[in-house]
Amino acid sequence: MSETIARDQSAVTDLRRLAERAGNELESASAIEILRWAVEQFGSDWCVASSMEDSVLAHLASRVLPGVDVVFLDTGYHFAETLGMRDAVDAVLPVSVRTVLPLRTVTEQDAQLGPRLHERAPGACCALRKVEPLRRVLTQYRAWASGLRRADSASRARIKVVDWDAKHHMVKLNPIAAWTDDDVDAYIAEHGLLVNPLLSDGYGSIGCGPCTRRLLPGEHSRAGRWAGTPKTECGLHA
Ligand code: SF4
Repeated sequence: MSETIARDQSAVTDLRRLAERAGNELESASAIEILRWAVEQFGSDWCVASSMEDSVLAHLASRVLPGVDVVFLDTGYHFAETLGMRDAVDAVLPVSVRTVLPLRTVTEQDAQLGPRLHERAPGACCALRKVEPLRRVLTQYRAWASGLRRADSASRARIKVVDWDAKHHMVKLNPIAAWTDDDVDAYIAEHGLLVNPLLSDGYGSIGCGPCTRRLLPGEHSRAGRWAGTPKTECGLHA
C-alpha cells in the first residue's frame, strides 16, 4: 500500500514539474502547438471540458487528436439551446462528447435539499452539479484542457497556457488563454464553427438557465452570470 502511495506521489510530483516547465516554455506557443505538446506527453490520456458556448476548443483539439474526449457537465439546468449545441458538436466534429451527470437529478436534489438551491446557496448547487461531476470524470485522465481566456475577467487575467491543477492533481491546459474576443470570432469564421445560438440572442456567456441572464448595454460578457450576487465562478477552475 505504501509503495503504491509513494509511486503515486512521485508521479504527481513529475506531472507538476512538467506542467510548471511547460507553462513557461509554451507561453508564446500557438494553441495548436500547446495541444500537440499535450498529445506528445499524454497521448489520448487527456480531455477537453466544454460548456458548449462555442466549439473553438473542441475543434482545435480534434485537429491534433481526432476522437478526443469532450466532457460536458449536464447540470440538469441547461438551456435547450446548449443541449442542442452539445448534440450538434458530437454530430459534426470528430470528437467524442462525454456527458457527465450529477449524482442526483434536480428532482432528487429538490427533495433532499429543498427547491431552487441555486437561489439560496449557489455555491452548494455548483458544488453538487458541476464541481463533483468534473472531479469524478477527471480522475480518468492525466490532463485536461479548458477554454479559459485572460480576456474573460480580472480573475482570469494571469492564467498560464499550461499549469498545474492542484485541486485535481493533474495538468491543466489553457491553449487559448491569450486569445482576444476578435481572435475567437476570427477562428469561428475561418472554420465555420458551431456557436451556441444564445450568443446572438443577447447572452454574453452561457451557463445554467436559472443563473444566466442577457447582458444589459455596456456590460462585460460575463456580467449575466449569477447577476446580483458576489459569485463570479462556478468553482471548476479554482
Ligand atoms: Fe446550480 Fe446555478 Fe451553479 Fe447551475 S450555475 S449548478 S443552476 S448554482
